[in-house]
Amino acid sequence: MDYRKQFFVSPGEKLKLAAIDPAHTAGHSSSEDALPEIQKHVARMAESQALLYADGQQSLLVVLQALDAAGKDGVVRHLFTGMNPQGTSVFGFKQPSAEEAAHDFLWRAHQRTPAKGEIVVFNRSHYEDVLVVRVHQLVAKSVWSGRYELIRDFEKMLVANGTRIVKFFLHISPEEQLLRFKQRLDDPARNWKISEGDYSEREFWSAYVEAYEEALSKTSSKDAPWYVIPANHKWFRNLAISQIIADTMGEMGLKLPPTRVDLKEITAKYHAAEAAQEKRAGKAPKPPSKK
Ligand code: AMP
Ligand code: MG
Repeated sequence: MDYRKQFFVSPGEKLKLAAIDPAHTAGHSSSEDALPEIQKHVARMAESQALLYADGQQSLLVVLQALDAAGKDGVVRHLFTGMNPQGTSVFGFKQPSAEEAAHDFLWRAHQRTPAKGEIVVFNRSHYEDVLVVRVHQLVAKSVWSGRYELIRDFEKMLVANGTRIVKFFLHISPEEQLLRFKQRLDDPARNWKISEGDYSEREFWSAYVEAYEEALSKTSSKDAPWYVIPANHKWFRNLAISQIIADTMGEMGLKLPPTRVDLKEITAKYHAAEAAQEKRAGKAPKPPSKK
């Protein structure tokens, strides 16, 4: 199953989230059943990351958006742990600070975009400025509605600079969200995740759905695709996202960079250093190997 095809949001087409089953599993029956595949994709991601870093010519930006408790943190924990921390980072977008709010809405996002060779994961993103901001009327409609075009242009500019962009909306049902809130209440290790706003935000569920539907369909493109990921089952969410990221990176033409030095000359220097070292240690130098 090619999840990139299955879950891609067609640019400009009206998106109806209600038509997508958040409990979909593409025929997989359990977490155990999906795990070997997830591990394979995570290994492919790690291999590609090593090449991305060594090559230093391109970068990858992964955007995670969702309602509370849909699993953004879980995606980071499960799928990015296999990567080398050198060259990978995650940034969580909270309510804008006074300094951030005093700038244009893309200012803080742009400061965190990946440099060449890097992967950056946005846990929430510049999309909050057409989502929470719209739902809670933090700015006028004339302001947020102009932002889709600004976001498209911003992402186009990143792509032109060598950044691949993949964007995921984790789609859960309100019932599943409530279940996860309950787990947070019951598990002391997860109590810290509970926030005052969790329950009041549920009142705005349909407003968020509407905001997501418009944002995703207006900003999905071939170069900066949105995928709607059925996320009621954590393991299916991990499976779909890991496959999509691994396939995307597999298409980036990543390869080890050419050697920057003359290997023959360096090999000769190595042998000379080795001989000098052995001489210092009082051993007879080995004859140079024939090769
Ligand atoms: P969490 O992801 O649970 O740590 O919560 C972060 C909070 O910051 C969420 O309630 C977001 O809606 C909020 N947030 C993120 N970006 C913005 C923004 N641009 N304007 C207002 N609130 C935001
Ligand atoms: Mg939260």
